[in-house]
Amino acid sequence: MKEKIGVLAVQGAFREHRQVLEKLGAEVVEVRSKNDLEGIEGLIIPGGESTAIGKQLEMDGFGERIVQMAQAGCPIFGTCAGMILLSKRIEQSKQYSLGLLDTLVRRNAFGRQVASFEADLPVKGFQGKELRAVFIRAPYVLEADPQVEILAKYEDKIVFVRQGNILATAFHPELTEDTRVHEYFLKMVPDKADRKEQSC
Ligand code: GLN
Repeated sequence: MKEKIGVLAVQGAFREHRQVLEKLGAEVVEVRSKNDLEGIEGLIIPGGESTAIGKQLEMDGFGERIVQMAQAGCPIFGTCAGMILLSKRIEQSKQYSLGLLDTLVRRNAFGRQVASFEADLPVKGFQGKELRAVFIRAPYVLEADPQVEILAKYEDKIVFVRQGNILATAFHPELTEDTRVHEYFLKMVPDKADRKEQSC
């Protein structure tokens, strides 16, 4: 069955997510306004600049609609800037956030010298080899409440989390050939037959 997944396409690395999702057989909708959210079964918030994306979400009830959908159980996956936008608290910043993850995140957390790097991470529940993770001016999670499940760390830093229907990575799984993170996300989308009501 084809899942219909929205990819927030106001700024940032949305095309790469589209490619991975299509490779996995999902149908992709590029979401540029509140109206584009209609009928999707899951949403990806890509990397980019969290302040720029946040400014768009602040307008016309766009972000508010995403929050409503998330509260109804719609699966949402944020990568990098997307993780920042999902976090309830952002260190030293008053920027807009959706506030759906009970975490405190630090932006550009790995410092200027090592702004971008790659690492192999063991991920909870993933079979086989470690996951190649690409970090680009990435955040990490400084604090996570107990209801937040930690799926991966890089050198003691939390970089992959799940809280119910919300998934977030500090890195960019759309930039490697390894599709396991997107497969994991697609499994969070309930089958149409099991759905009591529209969650997204
Ligand atoms: N540094 C960016 C921010 O704080 C995130 C970078 C990214 O998404 N690759 O919004």
